[in-house]
Amino acid sequence: MAGKATRPKAAGKDADDEPGYRPGEIDETGRPWPDLPEPQPPRRPPQGIIIALTNQKGGVGKTTTAINLGAALAETGRQVLLVDLDPQGSLSIGLGINPHTLQRSVYDLLIPRGEVSVDEVIMASNVDGLDILPANIDLSAAEVQLVSEVAREQTLTRVLDKVKGRYDIILIDCAPSLGLLTINALTAADFVLIPLECEFFALRGVALLTDTIAKVQERLNSNLRVLGVAPTMFDHRTLHAREVLERVLDAFDDQVFHTVIRRTIKFPETTVAGEPITTYASASGGAQAYRSLAREVLARL
Ligand code: ADP
Ligand code: MG
Repeated sequence: MAGKATRPKAAGKDADDEPGYRPGEIDETGRPWPDLPEPQPPRRPPQGIIIALTNQKGGVGKTTTAINLGAALAETGRQVLLVDLDPQGSLSIGLGINPHTLQRSVYDLLIPRGEVSVDEVIMASNVDGLDILPANIDLSAAEVQLVSEVAREQTLTRVLDKVKGRYDIILIDCAPSLGLLTINALTAADFVLIPLECEFFALRGVALLTDTIAKVQERLNSNLRVLGVAPTMFDHRTLHAREVLERVLDAFDDQVFHTVIRRTIKFPETTVAGEPITTYASASGGAQAYRSLAREVLARL
């Protein structure tokens, strides 16, 4: 039909609106959107695949991705364990747990004072199939105390070995550092997922991170692979964010997930609510985005 384009302008819309690409359509990453299959039922017995969410920069979306990717994976019928490996305890807080009142935390498993079984520490979240190993500020002491342990880098591996058989996927939310706790996560993991905030300094420090991953692969865990890079807090309305995303693609190419997590106030809101976006705002763009990321993750495992 001739005439002016009559499509209404997206004025006033939240950046959260899910683009909803069809397979083959060029997506925000400039590549054709893949045909992502419906998630298959999980394999039995559970595979216990461990994914560490790592980036030594703070505030890039590690915790938000751990919670919401975990919840989206649980929605597919998978048993998911979230491991809080940050003394800030943000993952625990984000699932409605008050870290100050914890009787036991992941710290008690890493630095045992007497017999503490992992079952005494694991907590169920409000989401079906989503469990959590919570943490609090106690964990900051572990960074120092682990130094004098024998096989200190394998401490978390030994803890997770005991529960691996019960979970399809275990997500480890790392602290913003490349210290001994993060090295423990990378040593225990099959995969590392790198969240990158679509902001000016997104790539600063990434060389150090990839260097650390290479060293762990060489010396501690030859099994470790990069699962992918997840762009987060993307504001599609700014040229700046699009330029950053382009540079992330230059650097990581096919490792970048097609799913781009947009910036929306709903994520900070979910922290206050103490639940994942998949239950807090199930139909929102943010929830759809993490479901889409879950599909991509499953296709890469
Ligand atoms: P990290 O674990 O890497 O430090 P967080 O996941 O805690 O990062 O995110 C940092 C802050 O940004 C939090 O307040 C979180 O609610 C907020 N945030 C995370 N993802 C988004 C998003 N897509 N849009 C808006 N805010 C976000
Ligand atoms: Mg965090």
